[in-house]
Amino acid sequence: MLPVVALVGRPNVGKSTLFNRLTRTRDALVADFPGLTRDRKYGQANYDGYQFIVVDTGGIHGDEEGIDEVMAKQSLQAIEEADVVLFLVDARDGVTVGDQAIATHLRKQKKKVYLVANKIDGIDADSAMADFYSLALGNLYGIAAAHGRGVEHLLDSCFKPL
Ligand code: GDP
Ligand code: MG
Repeated sequence: MLPVVALVGRPNVGKSTLFNRLTRTRDALVADFPGLTRDRKYGQANYDGYQFIVVDTGGIHGDEEGIDEVMAKQSLQAIEEADVVLFLVDARDGVTVGDQAIATHLRKQKKKVYLVANKIDGIDADSAMADFYSLALGNLYGIAAAHGRGVEHLLDSCFKPL
């Protein structure tokens, strides 16, 4: 079975844009991969020489109280079944309360988590990204999902150690 990469994060941070880039489609088919439930959006990625299953999630809202409310069930399940979690944040927003709640949940998981600051196009990426080290998730990568910048470097980091 191919490695499973889940895209999680608040709405509007660019998860679906990255999904579409990785799967090279505007509207990827919901494929029938054994062992995976079908209420999330799965696609097969073949990018930069890496083959994997990518899972798009819709539903982590950031401003509720409590992790159970903050993270929709399907996103929690996507994290559970993933080999690698890409936690997307919006480099232009800085750290939000929602980001902090998601980070708290992810720090408790025994998963490989990569913190991905999206939308670094047209801004000072280094200073925008500095804020996110406070989430204490270790690896931080800057990308522009809409343009592809940084995506290969991110995947190299995710897959070289696997
Ligand atoms: P999702 O809710 O996390 O799936 O976010 P979407 O993929 O739907 O993207 C939300 C908005 O962010 C859309 O208007 C995208 O065009 C925009 N967006 C996504 N990636 C980038 C990026 O790399 N740079 C910029 N400037 N905008 C982006
Ligand atoms: Mg989306």
